Amino acid sequence: MAKKSAQVQSVSDIFRVNPGSMDLAALDPAATPIGPRSKEEAAGEVARIGEELDELQEALFAEGVGGGRRRVLLVLQGMDTSGKGGTIRHVLGLVNPHGVRVAAFGRPTPEERSHDFLWRIRRQVPPPGYLGVFDRSHYEDVLVARVDGLVPEDEWRRRYALINEFEADLVEQGVTLVKCFLHISPEKQKERLLARLEDPLKQWKYDPADLAARAKFSAYREAYRDALARCSEAAPWYAVPADRKWYRNWAVASLLLGALRDLAPRRPAPSYDPEVELARLRDADPLR
Ligand code: AMP
Ligand code: MG
Repeated sequence: MAKKSAQVQSVSDIFRVNPGSMDLAALDPAATPIGPRSKEEAAGEVARIGEELDELQEALFAEGVGGGRRRVLLVLQGMDTSGKGGTIRHVLGLVNPHGVRVAAFGRPTPEERSHDFLWRIRRQVPPPGYLGVFDRSHYEDVLVARVDGLVPEDEWRRRYALINEFEADLVEQGVTLVKCFLHISPEKQKERLLARLEDPLKQWKYDPADLAARAKFSAYREAYRDALARCSEAAPWYAVPADRKWYRNWAVASLLLGALRDLAPRRPAPSYDPEVELARLRDADPLR
């Protein structure tokens, strides 16, 4: 058990972004700095992580039923094909879907646009006891909004501080944020986009706009670097190497497990006397 905790601890240390020295170019998207060495090994480890995650998530849910306010919010960001959807499927698929709330953020609707950029985000914050997942998030408002010039520069620059305030509020309300940047190389992205276009079963995932975003890969790198460096105040960012799907899934599962272990959620004590209830149950025959 001690060995397991030590491992999870170093997983978060290894992937945690140091806001003072952010250099995405120096991070190898295919790296496997810790943990499983192969897809097979990763599958075994993820299965074990899943059992513990499931147990802890149920405890968190129970704590919420008992009036606890704590919850977890996994924020997934990354370029197209970085594997946000695959991570949700493989990692969140390890726990009871009843306790999970997934929210995906695409281009804002006219209604969403008529409010401040955090309006639609606030509405999707998981309730107490839940494990929430954001597939894209409020960070798009300092990423695509900046790269595509959707708002003037002074507007997106103001947002870093607003995001820090918003996240500090969440933390105050009992939300543990696990923010993962899925770091993918342009070469791997090309491979996955080709696969999407060539496979009729995957074509629905492709969006011609993906190529426009891909053409701005370096501008996105810069925007990601600033977002990760400037918005690590209330909760750290983790940069997860995402060129290998099995490694990405293992890493995010490990980070989530670390967060839940740190929370150590507790099932509430019953509000009744189990001995009394057991006696009542044993004595009563409903058909008599
Ligand atoms: P997908 O995640 O593949 O469904 O794509 C969602 C699209 O919505 C991406 O192109 C995002 O850049 C875009 N998007 C998400 N949030 C925003 C936002 N706040 N402003 C503009 N575009 C956004
Ligand atoms: Mg897409």
